[in-house]
Parts: sequence; C-alpha cells; structure tokens
Amino acid sequence: MTSTTNTSTTTTDEMSLDAPARVCMPWCRTNDGHEGEATVDQTCWSKDRAIPLETEDPVSPERLMGTPRDPVPYSVTYLEAPLGESTRVCVGFGDLFSIKYTPAEARRLAAHLIERAEVAER
Ligand SMILES: [Zn+2]
Repeated sequence: MTSTTNTSTTTTDEMSLDAPARVCMPWCRTNDGHEGEATVDQTCWSKDRAIPLETEDPVSPERLMGTPRDPVPYSVTYLEAPLGESTRVCVGFGDLFSIKYTPAEARRLAAHLIERAEVAER
C-alpha cells in the first residue's frame, strides 16, 4: 500500500474559519474585522469608484470572458489590504481584471495620466 504526501504550502492557520477579527483599515467597506473568515480571506476592501468609459468597446470584455458582462464598460479603482500585507491601490476594467499598485506607483501613474490628459487637450 502506498501513501501520498501532502505537498500543499497552505497552513492550518491560513485555512482556519475561526480566525480572530483583524483590525480593519479606516476605509474598509465592511469594517467588521472579518471575523469568521479564513485568514487568507481577511482582506479589507474599499468601496469602488467607477468611471464609465466613452470610447471603450463594450463588446471586448464580453468576448474576452466568453459570457455577457456589464453592457457599459467602466474603469474602477479601489483599495485592498490583505491581512499582514501593505495596502494596494487597484485599477480595474469592470470586474474582469485589475492591476495592483503601491501607493507610490499609483501617484506616479496619476501624475502621468494628468500630464497625458493635459497634452491631449491642447
Ligand atoms: Zn476590513
């Protein structure tokens, strides 16, 4: 009889559904400490801020995922802070995907976007 070896790197603590409450970030949309969630799920999320996109093809994201999605394409920003990790500034396209930035990276991106918008409107 052979036995298998569990090679998973997930610890019991990460999978615990009885994790104690964490201290939520001031901007956390639930602000409930995420008690009872698995430790790996104890992420603080901010409210979304969405910008409808005028020139983006609304069909593109549907084709990308193969299922109908939001008929109006939009860009979204939000914050996330997984337990024990630094806060990330996230920029997404609808709910299809997002890119995570450090606060410093987000400031550089914002400065570049403002500069590009000012050049575009000249
Ligand atoms: Zn939270």
